[in-house]
Amino acid sequence: MKAFDLHCDTITVLCRHGEELVNGARHISLDKMEGFERYVQCFAIFMPDEYRGEGAKEYFDRNYRYYRAQMEKFSGRIGTAERGEQLTRGSGLTSILTVEGGSALAGELDRIKKLKELGVAMMTITWNGDNEIAGGAGGEGEGTGLTDFGRLAIPEMEKQGMIVDLSHISDRSFEEIDAIAQKPFVASHSNSRPMCGVKRNLTDRQFARYVARGGLVGLNYYTQFIRERDPENATVADLYRHIEHFLALGGEKVLALGSDFDGADMPEALNSVEKIANLYEYMLKSNLSEELVRDIFYGNACRFFSQHM
Ligand SMILES: [Zn+2]
Repeated sequence: MKAFDLHCDTITVLCRHGEELVNGARHISLDKMEGFERYVQCFAIFMPDEYRGEGAKEYFDRNYRYYRAQMEKFSGRIGTAERGEQLTRGSGLTSILTVEGGSALAGELDRIKKLKELGVAMMTITWNGDNEIAGGAGGEGEGTGLTDFGRLAIPEMEKQGMIVDLSHISDRSFEEIDAIAQKPFVASHSNSRPMCGVKRNLTDRQFARYVARGGLVGLNYYTQFIRERDPENATVADLYRHIEHFLALGGEKVLALGSDFDGADMPEALNSVEKIANLYEYMLKSNLSEELVRDIFYGNACRFFSQHM
């Protein structure tokens, strides 16, 4: 089986606890990933909302050094990709570095180029809180929109080839970015709001914009984003309702995986990377074609990153 996952928080968790990429107690570890024919993981540096400005830079640097040290230490087992062509040539395990939270820019436009040069392929504009670029999903009502800095940062990300990730964005910021973005954008780890009514999930209107632009939407396994009632009992069948809904909206070439591994509580059947085979089998049993399931698991994200990274 091939898989390509758009978002996990593993690196930040390992850095915080001084653990390594071989810790079997985490959702993701090298041993668990090595069972796949091919596996590409976007490893995010998660920026908590408590860090802004210089504090955010230092936090980013600390996590970045940890990521590089882990990739160096285990370079015989996992490769890294920073450009699309490295992805098509790659085999086995591949890591892509991403950032969750535009606070990593600390409000400085030239940091976009700098972070891209450090290997950051994709960045969410916000986490839940508002930052220097835009309002996050944690705000009131439709939330805050793009700031003046944000109106410069989005075109600069596109110019530098850093993929714009709109998971965690406020509804108002989404509209404002959709109005100025030239390239396709991604929601690395968001589900369907009509299927589970939380602000972190996408409205049908928003999803239609990812489809129209040829972007990507990664399915999130966090129980609270899968099912509103009794989320602790969420199952693969509940996640499949989101998939069916997205497919009915024309999402065949847009859907991908965005687990949120090591960042959230998951259903028992999905709470470790090797268990995504359960989702693969469930989709086949639900009469999705093998070609479609392969696209959702790997093909769509591989095509997008090969083209846009
Ligand atoms: Zn997240």
